[in-house]
Amino acid sequence: MGSLITPHCSNCKFPFKQMMVGGGMRDFLESVKIPFSCYDCGTLSVQNIYSPSKKCSKCRKEMVMFGKEVSDMDSDEYRDCVFDWGMGSFGSEGYVLMNEKYQCPKCKTHNLLFENTGMWD
Ligand SMILES: [Zn+2]
Ligand SMILES: [Zn+2]
Repeated sequence: MGSLITPHCSNCKFPFKQMMVGGGMRDFLESVKIPFSCYDCGTLSVQNIYSPSKKCSKCRKEMVMFGKEVSDMDSDEYRDCVFDWGMGSFGSEGYVLMNEKYQCPKCKTHNLLFENTGMWD
């Protein structure tokens, strides 16, 4: 049910690890993993979007979410996404990670792209 995504920065080419995002069969109502970044210490990791605090495991600073929560997932605007996730059992609210450049936590330039590299369940 989830996806595997791999971040790539075309500027610093830091070897980021593949990340598991989305939710598993058993706990997807309580836990949906989304990529987050700590720009203080340069960590890129997944956090549960339902968790009230998304603190960096290394430096305890608040992390910044990649992608965005949207209320109209089916919109054409989000067709070019790397990963999306519907929240709740009906409606069109969800999360999208777009196929666009984000800020790299290592070199701080806007050259970070995510690539969808597989599925997991
Ligand atoms: Zn970089
Ligand atoms: Zn940190």
